[in-house]
Parts: sequence; structure tokens; C-alpha cells
Amino acid sequence: MFRTYRLYCRTTLRPRRAIVPSRPPFLRPAGGCGFSTSATRPLMELTGFSEEQLTVRDAVSAICTKFPNTYWQECDQNERDPKEFHAALAKDGWLGIALPEELGGAGLGISEATMMMQTITQSGAGMAGAQAIHANVYATQPLARFGTREQLEETIPKIIDGTWRTCFGVTEPNTGLETLKLKTLAKRDPSRDVYSVSGQKIWITCAQVASKMILLARTTALEEVSKATQGLSLFCIDLDRNQPGLEMRKIKKMGGRAVDANEVFFDKYEVPAATLIGQENDGFRIILHGMNAERCLLAGEALGLGYAALERAAQYAKDRVVFGRAIGQNQGIAHPLADAYMRLEAAKLATYHAARLYDASKLDDAIPVHSVGVACNSAKYLAAEAAFTACERAVLSHGGMGYAMEYDVERYLRECLVPRIAPVAA
Ligand SMILES: Cc1cc2nc3c(=O)[nH]c(=O)nc-3n(C[C@H](O)[C@H](O)[C@H](O)COP(=O)(O)OP(=O)(O)OC[C@H]3O[C@@H](n4cnc5c(N)ncnc54)[C@H](O)[C@@H]3O)c2cc1C
Repeated sequence: MFRTYRLYCRTTLRPRRAIVPSRPPFLRPAGGCGFSTSATRPLMELTGFSEEQLTVRDAVSAICTKFPNTYWQECDQNERDPKEFHAALAKDGWLGIALPEELGGAGLGISEATMMMQTITQSGAGMAGAQAIHANVYATQPLARFGTREQLEETIPKIIDGTWRTCFGVTEPNTGLETLKLKTLAKRDPSRDVYSVSGQKIWITCAQVASKMILLARTTALEEVSKATQGLSLFCIDLDRNQPGLEMRKIKKMGGRAVDANEVFFDKYEVPAATLIGQENDGFRIILHGMNAERCLLAGEALGLGYAALERAAQYAKDRVVFGRAIGQNQGIAHPLADAYMRLEAAKLATYHAARLYDASKLDDAIPVHSVGVACNSAKYLAAEAAFTACERAVLSHGGMGYAMEYDVERYLRECLVPRIAPVAA
């Protein structure tokens, strides 16, 4: 599928309808859909997206339809990793959407990757579906940009084909938002060409199933640098459970239970010096490329979740009859949903603007990383807030059934707190 898509994108003018399957239900204009009881348009306004983005949306949604809500309910309830979903996306090359073509990726940008992540959450997979794969997309961005040829050739193809999964190791128990104060230390032993890593990370998503971690650690103590942004280094390390000095503990959590979140302990855990990405002590500048990409993807994920919740609410508002009429005919139900819809639409503009700026900055040095950061953070904030509003109102529109697992909106509400908290708590 993905190869056909790439061929299409680069060499033919065939209409995309000819190469992608027919639209699955959640993308089709739902007859009488939306919070209105009469509208016939698709819920999300699609004007302005590029042909590539729309093609990605169609193709990824075709995969997502093989994983219905019952699949995600079961993974959530049993805290089971959705490995089949990860494998299905890997099989068709989607994990390499924003990675270089010469390494097996598609060479597209974060604009298309954000659309992919939005499509995933919107399909009903929710944040669990997104979190099962997203670090492979965003955490690999700094590696692709600053890694050596050997690092890239050894790592990227295996991440794209799904052999290895990766996680992002930044947060520490005492340094969440204050990244620059993180304490995990990677001490170089030049005689053996290794770094010895000691410290603790927390909230590391997918660490249990990952073979690799993109790790941010101090290589020079905070007291020894003139600016706090100095002295950090980025590594792409193996998570080798058989090697001494590595321990993980799962954290019980509120939502997205299908994906594990962990405390990770390093105690003189040795990694080869060749795992360093870019220059030693330059890690903060390098990781910003991953963090800004992460914010765009999270914004897209939040949007998808919000639209999914709204779609469920609209359907229920049409179907549920109380006091002799569909509840959606009451302004008290329709207006809050319409308001939630417009918040999502506004956040959508901020999100895809940020993604476009991120992509443009790779080609244009005149775009400062600070401007990209402002756009990406704003987008993540706005999309997370809009998603929360949509999910909360979707639950309330369902009345008692909003609290029942089988209607899914309770799962969406639990999950929509993630983009509000991470990677930056609002
Ligand atoms: C489900 C989940 C998955 C995650 N996955 C990962 C992952 O894969 N990798 C990773 O590295 N991290 C991950 N994180 C961590 C996440 O990025 C952090 O939780 C987040 O950055 C917030 O850090 P903190 O929890 O330490 O909050 P704190 O920094 O302790 O902040 C606590 C609260 O205080 C507020 N606050 C702090 N300072 C101020 C101030 N000056 N003014 C006003 N308010 C302030 C914050 O906004 C927040 O509400 C994940 C978190 C969650 C919940």
C-alpha cells in the first residue's frame, strides 16, 4: 500500500481514489452526522489539506478499520500491548513516514505524520493506538538529522520495519517540565569507549516493549556549565534487559492502559560511546527537533480523539429519544457540541500550521527554532484543550451510557488527559 502511495505521489497523476480503498465509515460523510441532527457533511472540514495528507489519511484509515473499538476496549481493559496494530503499520512502512527514503522511509514530513497520528486516534484507537507507535516517528527525528551514517543504517531500517521499537527517555522524577535540571549522568570512560549511565527516568512510554531508547542525559554536571542548556547529550541506546544496571517498573495509570508507562532505573548501565547522537554536550539543541515534532504529533492525536468523541456524541444525540424527541434537537445538547466542534476546527489550523513550519524549518535556516517551538507548543495546548472539551461533552451527552465502557467515550475522556499533561502540562 505504502509503496503504491509513494509511487503515486512521485510519478503518476492517477487520482488517489484509484489506489486507496474506499473510505472507511469514520471518514465517510455520515448521513445526518455531526452534532446537528440534519448535517450531511464529514465532521472534520478537509479543505486546505494537501493531496499527500489526504492520501495518508485514506490509506492509514484503511489499516485502522481492521482494529475496531472492541479491539481497543480489550487492550485497554487487559492492559495488553497492541502489538498487532504496531506490526500492521510497520508492515506497510508507515513508521517511516517522516524518515529519509534512502533508509527505507517515505521522506514525507511531520505535516503528513501528524495527519497519520490524527487518523489513528480518530479511528477509535485513541491515545493508546497513537502512543504504541508515536515515539518511533518523533524520537527518530533528531537521530535522522544528527546521527552518523552507521547509526542510521544500523537503526532506522529496523525501526521502520518494526523489528525494533523505540521509546523516549527524558522525564525524571524531579525534573518534568524542568528538563534542563535532569540528573541522569552518562560518564565517559575513554579507555573502554563506553558511557556508564546512572539515574532514573519516569513515565517512559513503551519501555517494556522497546529495544531502543532515545535517552537525554547529562554528560557535564549542571554546576560545571555556564548555561543550563549546555552539558546534556542525546543517545540512542539499547535496552538490554540481560545487561546489569537496568531495571523497569510499570506504572498503573488512568488511561491508555494498553501501552505501558514505566520508571526506568539505570545503575552504571554501560552503553557504547558510538551511541552518542551528534556532539557531546549539545543534546538539548538536538533534542528540540524531537520535542517539537512530538508536540505536533500530540496535537494531531488530540484532534483525532476530539473528533472521534464528537462523532459518537452526534450519533447518540440523533438516536436517543427523551421526552418524545431526539436529544440533539435540544439546544442544551446541540450548542455545546457545536462549540466543541469549532474549538477543534480552530486547533486544527494551529496544528497544521505548526507542522508546516516544522517541515519548512528543515529547509530554511531563516526560520528560528524558537518560532517553531512557539507554534508547536501553542498547537499542542489548543488541540489538547479542544479535545478535552469534546470528550467531556461527549460523555455528558450520553447521559449514563457515557460512563459505560461499550460506548467508548469514557475511554476517550480518560485518554484525552494525556495531551493535556504531556509532553508539557498545561
Ligand atoms: C501518560 C504519560 C506518558 C508519558 N510519556 C513520556 C515518555 O514517553 N517520555 C518522557 O520522557 N516523558 C513522558 N511523560 C512525562 C511528561 O512529559 C511529564 O509528565 C510532563 O512533562 C510534566 O512533568 P511532571 O509530571 O514532572 O510535572 P511537574 O513539572 O512536576 O509539574 C507539575 C504541575 O505544576 C505545574 N507547574 C510547574 N511549574 C509551574 C509554574 N512555574 N507555573 C505554573 N504551573 C507550573 C505544571 O504545569 C503541572 O501541572 C509522560 C507522561 C504521561 C502522563
